[in-house]
Amino acid sequence: MGLNLVLFGPPAAGKGTQAKRLVAERGLIQLSTGDMLRAARAAGTELGKKVAGIMDRGDLVTDEIVVALIEEQLDSNKGAAGFIFDGFPRTVAQAEALDAALAKRDMKVDSVIRLKVDEEALVARIIKRFEEEGRKDDNPDAFKVRLGNYQKQTARLLPYYSAQGKLTEVDGMANEETVAVSIRKVLDRQNGAKDVMKKGFWARLFGK
Ligand code: AMP
Repeated sequence: MGLNLVLFGPPAAGKGTQAKRLVAERGLIQLSTGDMLRAARAAGTELGKKVAGIMDRGDLVTDEIVVALIEEQLDSNKGAAGFIFDGFPRTVAQAEALDAALAKRDMKVDSVIRLKVDEEALVARIIKRFEEEGRKDDNPDAFKVRLGNYQKQTARLLPYYSAQGKLTEVDGMANEETVAVSIRKVLDRQNGAKDVMKKGFWARLFGK
């Protein structure tokens, strides 16, 4: 059975970095809507043109656009070991659409890991990334808009997922390796719990 993980946190919390490590370690597929939109822009598609201004300002593109991108990827990666959702969902409507899209395909969100970070410290982190990678939406003004959107819209997903018992928090301010170890522990614990549940099922069935 696959593992579908939502990596959750504000922009520049380290979601992409950690997602890439999980791809290498566990063969999961990273679905980053930000990367998909940047690819559309680089390819000069209609979609790319449509979202360019919105992204550069740091605003969110519509739910319809990102949900369609995700559904496309779920269909073109059938049989995957699992998916890491990175930067998606960002609104409650997107989270509901994700649940429905997965349910339609006999899957579900198994785990949501929140990278908990000091939002003040993010600004310093982002200035560094802006200098290194030159992402337009990492400039301080756009970044403030992105952080504001996170606080207004995306943070509302925390109660959505914690009510479902799926949310675990890890300290995202630690160094990259330490964060990776914390994430590994959460996933291993959840896999272990699944095995125990399976064993319990067979024991009840056969009285062992
Ligand atoms: P990211 O790389 O995840 O920070 O995304 C970069 C930009 O792409 C965001 O600031 C938004 O403009 C857009 N974007 C990416 N993912 C989403 C999403 N799930 N919902 C709305 N807009 C998104």
